[in-house]
Amino acid sequence: MVSDHFETRAIHVDQEPDAATGAIIPPIYQTATYAQEDVGITKGYDYSRTANPTRTALEQCLASLESGDHGLAFASGMGAITTVMFLFKSGDHVVVCDDAYGGTYRLFRRILESYGLEFTFVDMTDLAATERAIRPNTKMLWIETPTNPLLKVVNIAALAVLGKEQSALIVVDNTFASPYLQQPLALGADIVVHSTTKYLGGHSDVVGGAIITSNDKVFERLKFLQNAAGAVPGPFDCWLVLRGAKTLALRMDRHSENAIRVAHFLESHPRVTRVIYPGLESHPQHELARKQMRAFGGMVSFIPKGGAEQARKIARATRLFTLGESLGGVESLIEVPSAMTHLSVQGSPLEVDPALIRLSVGIEHHEDLLADLAQALDQE
Ligand SMILES: *Cc1c(COP(=O)(O)O)cnc(C)c1O
Repeated sequence: MVSDHFETRAIHVDQEPDAATGAIIPPIYQTATYAQEDVGITKGYDYSRTANPTRTALEQCLASLESGDHGLAFASGMGAITTVMFLFKSGDHVVVCDDAYGGTYRLFRRILESYGLEFTFVDMTDLAATERAIRPNTKMLWIETPTNPLLKVVNIAALAVLGKEQSALIVVDNTFASPYLQQPLALGADIVVHSTTKYLGGHSDVVGGAIITSNDKVFERLKFLQNAAGAVPGPFDCWLVLRGAKTLALRMDRHSENAIRVAHFLESHPRVTRVIYPGLESHPQHELARKQMRAFGGMVSFIPKGGAEQARKIARATRLFTLGESLGGVESLIEVPSAMTHLSVQGSPLEVDPALIRLSVGIEHHEDLLADLAQALDQE
């Protein structure tokens, strides 16, 4: 069943009723190995690190949602990112957006540099600076957009042109936007990675990752690496992500509607100094975001008056917005990145303002969310 429509593909790609039983939902194939018909003759599966039918259903669905040819699922977003990095070797250089996910920064700086990979972190909203960072040995541009936690919007199509001149791979971590809001492969990217823990899973009940590409050669290598390195998800985790993906479009629409209301509310609040949301006209890349994204997503960052101490007070005072790390679930979360998700980058050039608060705006009723923020901002 093929459709041009995202919502239909999310529910139907590689999710036909089970041939043996008619089960409407792909079964959880909780098996490590498979009976062979004869020595070396299988029905396509021999061992579940290499392939598992529940995982195959998820991988094909995710590929379709990113308008890609191939998908690979992983045990976590970091498992996916680590596997992408096995494409490179000592002496290779990577240009990375300077506001990258903290765990990505940690992997690159504290692990991969000691294996001889070289990284340059640059503000990718500045195309000239990004071009200057490219060297003869640059093999990849690592893009996140919108970035975390400053929600900078990076021009994927423009960077794809820059990268191709250098034959560098363009990789986009599309976790914050999700494939419903942004389609990096169509904009010229070679590889998309996800933490499916976030919007794709959508219910804060599973940790997972994914890679999607339409480049056959890159896919063959990544498929080899997935099996060789082994950071694969279990069948139940695949099933949870596949279930989450079915409602992605509905959820992203509501996340985006709620987030713009929250952003406007905060922007007009006397106790807030700065609000960062790509959907606000005050956002420096608002026009680019309008072109590159279908809507602006569920993440809002802001700085309250009163500095770091007041930020902590607010984060402790919300009742519906739960104080916690992660994002992308149906429930709203609040956090202080400098002391939580971004602790590992404090003291580095990527350091985050300690007064910054990050919200993952959920899909609760917007009146309840605004009332909760109103009472928290009133804290003395
Ligand atoms: C969470 C996250 C990751 C890491 O994913 P895990 O599933 O936690 O391993 C990578 N990139 C971004 C943008 C994320 O938000």
